[in-house]
Amino acid sequence: MEELSQNIRQVESKIDSACKRSGRSRQAVTLIAVSKTKPVSMLKDAYNCGCRHFGENKVQELVDKYEQMPKDIKWHMIGHLQRNKVKYVVDKAYLIHGVDSLKLAEEISKEAVKKNITAHILVEVNIAGEETKFGASAEEAITLVQKISCLPSIQVEGLMTIAPYVENPEKNRKYFRSLYQLSVDISGKNIDNVNMDVLSMGMTGDYEVAVEEGATYVRVGTGIFGERHYETV
Ligand SMILES: *Cc1c(COP(=O)(O)O)cnc(C)c1O
Repeated sequence: MEELSQNIRQVESKIDSACKRSGRSRQAVTLIAVSKTKPVSMLKDAYNCGCRHFGENKVQELVDKYEQMPKDIKWHMIGHLQRNKVKYVVDKAYLIHGVDSLKLAEEISKEAVKKNITAHILVEVNIAGEETKFGASAEEAITLVQKISCLPSIQVEGLMTIAPYVENPEKNRKYFRSLYQLSVDISGKNIDNVNMDVLSMGMTGDYEVAVEEGATYVRVGTGIFGERHYETV
């Protein structure tokens, strides 16, 4: 608990400094505590330290934790979402970050209509063009946003990217800058029903640079909860 609260304070203070350096308001950036693989007891500690935004990448884990944690938490689905699992998470996720195909968006729209809610989503962009990553290319993203904007009960709020893993975060600055520029370009098209207010970018290794380049959400796991240990079941 002591260590966790220190970690959170440290991340908060680095976000604060990055905002000051880039002339941004601290309110413009929200920290998502990425709690995947971590036990509910740790999430409760983070909650008690003031965290209200949590990120999970597996549907079942998000749903389990959702049931056990206070109801004022905003849950972010940050992982690759399979279409057959959309129905379990669409009414629990505050924001779905990884939408990278029209088919997935259609499924989200369909389930949101059924449940009479609006689903808020981000289009995932593979901004560095890495072969191993999900996400639309910058060009595809524009068309995808346009197509999604025509679907009912789904609202595009902005863009998300997972930048390459790098030792030196400065190496990702150009990618964060490109994602920001892409969101400005899409915004300039004034597509009905589309916001480009949200930019989800930056993880433990590079969130300060991401904030300097315009991130509105940073997704920090290791920097808050420590290393993840994946158990082999
Ligand atoms: C796991 C994960 C994170 C957090 O990664 P850390 O390097 O531990 O901060 C952020 N975003 C996504 C999409 C993730 O899957």
